[in-house]
Amino acid sequence: MEDSSITKMKGVVTDIQRFSLHDGTGIRTIVFLKGCPLRCKWCHNPETNRPCREMAYYRDKCIGCGACVQACPHGAILSDGTLQNDLCITCGKCADACCTKARTIIGEERSVEEIIQEVLRDQIFYEISGGGLTISGGEPTAQPRFARALLERAKTFGISTAIETCGFCAWRDFEPIVRSSDVILYDIKHMDPAKHKAATGVSNELVLENIRRIGRMGKKLILRIPLIPGVNHDDDNLKATAFLAKEVLAAEIHILPFHQLGQGKWYALGREYKFEEQTAPDELCIAHAKLILEQASELPVNIGGYGA
Ligand code: SF4
Ligand code: SF4
Repeated sequence: MEDSSITKMKGVVTDIQRFSLHDGTGIRTIVFLKGCPLRCKWCHNPETNRPCREMAYYRDKCIGCGACVQACPHGAILSDGTLQNDLCITCGKCADACCTKARTIIGEERSVEEIIQEVLRDQIFYEISGGGLTISGGEPTAQPRFARALLERAKTFGISTAIETCGFCAWRDFEPIVRSSDVILYDIKHMDPAKHKAATGVSNELVLENIRRIGRMGKKLILRIPLIPGVNHDDDNLKATAFLAKEVLAAEIHILPFHQLGQGKWYALGREYKFEEQTAPDELCIAHAKLILEQASELPVNIGGYGA
């Protein structure tokens, strides 16, 4: 894929993070795409759930100057700061007027070439450290043509590629993305279909089918578990996850302990957060999960992912 229709292709991006050590090996640039087919109740990146641009309002940063109210050409912001979503066209004029960044537009259209040029700025660091480009989200496969184009373009420059995925994607779209990725960081939220659906909004049949397909392709696969007490931390689920990791020839398992750091974003987006009372796993819970996973899978188990 090198023609201009590819390099000019645009996608909606929430963020690009340079010099990351957490989402793959070495020093990496992480491109966060917007949109996800799952609705995990614990999501710590809820600003990436919806595919389109949207506005976030951080009330604690607001000094009540009223500049946003004045700047809005559609009268979408009431004097008390309430946003009338039906009037907002996410033009961003209120965010431009806000000196404290209490109002921020989430999501920006960027072309493949713009992003690749940004990624290329750190090519020397990738070469020294064994790093590269990671596409995350949201869910990279929620913009399948764009994700594929980014990965294939990166490959033309010899950049190592990785994706972080929930695996919920039609295989015809997923397969070319997987083919262009050197490493697949694959989340398994729960092994039981009904419990997976209760926690994420979708069943896990497609997720499990896809990870088995990837296993047969011989790709480097890291299986990741967001460890959440009361949701998926029980021994039966951990053992079933470990057996899956072994079956698909995963290189490693990563435990990602639940945390509450994303909570403020739910409120800023005006959404209900149902995990306020959820506790993070304590050291004992994490150590126990690690032991179960190690024993059942006979694979290396890492806590916190790369760079932790
Ligand atoms: S994004 Fe535009 S339309 Fe929406 S509230 Fe801000 S200024 Fe008004
Ligand atoms: S411009 Fe920013 S700081 Fe001023 S009222 Fe609006 S949100 Fe608050």
